[in-house]
This record gives sequence, C-alpha cells and structure tokens, in this order.
Amino acid sequence: MSGPSLNIADDIREILITSEAIRERTAELGAEISRDYAGKDVLLVCVLKGAMVFMADLMRHITIPVCIDTIAVSSYGAATVSSGVVRIVKDLDAPVADKHVLVVEDIVDSGLTLSYLRNYLFNRKPASVRICTLLDKPERREVSITPDYCGFVIPNHFVVGYGLDYQERYRNLPFIGIPHDYVWASNHNNHKQ
Ligand code: 5GP
Repeated sequence: MSGPSLNIADDIREILITSEAIRERTAELGAEISRDYAGKDVLLVCVLKGAMVFMADLMRHITIPVCIDTIAVSSYGAATVSSGVVRIVKDLDAPVADKHVLVVEDIVDSGLTLSYLRNYLFNRKPASVRICTLLDKPERREVSITPDYCGFVIPNHFVVGYGLDYQERYRNLPFIGIPHDYVWASNHNNHKQ
C-alpha cells in the first residue's frame, strides 16, 4: 500500500482501546466526577480539538450541573512531538475566577502542554484546577504532572482516533488505534493543532 486508504479504519494496524472499553471507562469517570464535584460551581474546559469527542461523551455521564468552555492551544515544533512552547490559539469565552475548573484533555504525553495550561488557568484565580485526560503516556513525561482523572494509561505509541489525529485525519475513528507505518510516510499537507 502506498498511501492512506479511503476507509480510515484500514490505515489502523492495531486497535489499542475499543469503543466499548472507552464507553465503559467514560461512564465510570463521569460518575466519579459527579461525586467529587457535587455542590460545586464546575467549569469543564475542553482542550480543542483532540478532546472534543471525549468531552462530548464524558459530559453526558456527568449528572451534576456544569458549565462548559473551550480553549485551543498549539505547540510550536515538529508535528508529533511537543516542543513545550505553547500558544493559545483560542482563549476561553468567560472568566474562570472562583470556579472549579476541570480541564478535559485527550492525552498527556511530555506533560508540557498541560503544565503550561494549568499555570495559565491558575493565574486567573479559579477556585481549583484539575485535569481529566482520556489517555496518559507516563513513559514520555518531561515535567511532573499527574492527571487527577485518567481513562487509560498507554504505552509509548503514537495513537489516533476518538478525537486524536495525525495531520488532522483519524479524529472520527470511534476507537483508539495505532496506524500502519505507511501512514507516517504520507503527507496530507495539514498542520497539527
Ligand atoms: P504534551 O505536551 O503532553 O507532550 O502533548 C500533549 C499533546 O500532544 C496532546 O494534546 C496531543 O495533541 C499531542 N499528542 C501527544 N501524544 C499523542 C499521540 O499519541 N497521538 C496524537 N494524535 N496526539 C498526541
């Protein structure tokens, strides 16, 4: 095979986490968050674009009242490696002062993006800032950051699907998978966000 397939699932070498497993775990996290934040003024902050699928499912498993907002960050540097230099591409719509902020992220890798984001949010005087990530790759950590809620700890592979992309593709896969090697050789002329 020389390039990416028309059916994006054909580009996947291995399914790491099935959609059933994601659904079950997301329901557990939603229940846990509902218990932990009961009676608090909660703001869920979705980190675009990678966390949008997870956020959409997670929030429907949260039974307490919550507000939502979105933020988009972009890291300078190579496509699949975080440089640690983060730029806010789209800021929050509303102030976070005195709110209990729960950042919803797709994956924590080096931790540099979340570490920056956490400080950025802390400076706006919220009541608290915690992190909920679908995936965690602790082997790759460069800064000390531990998610408060984590769906799955995964080994050091570049994964796609369920919101996560490679060159903007594969976000619409319903599972988390590892692409075939030929995918890395293809160029879709897009940049990563
Ligand atoms: P960090 O700053 O923790 O190194 O990087 C976090 C960001 O890098 C994630 O939000 C995600 O956009 C991207 N990233 C890290 N690992 C992966 C991966 O395995 N697959 C995809 N698609 N993106 C990743």
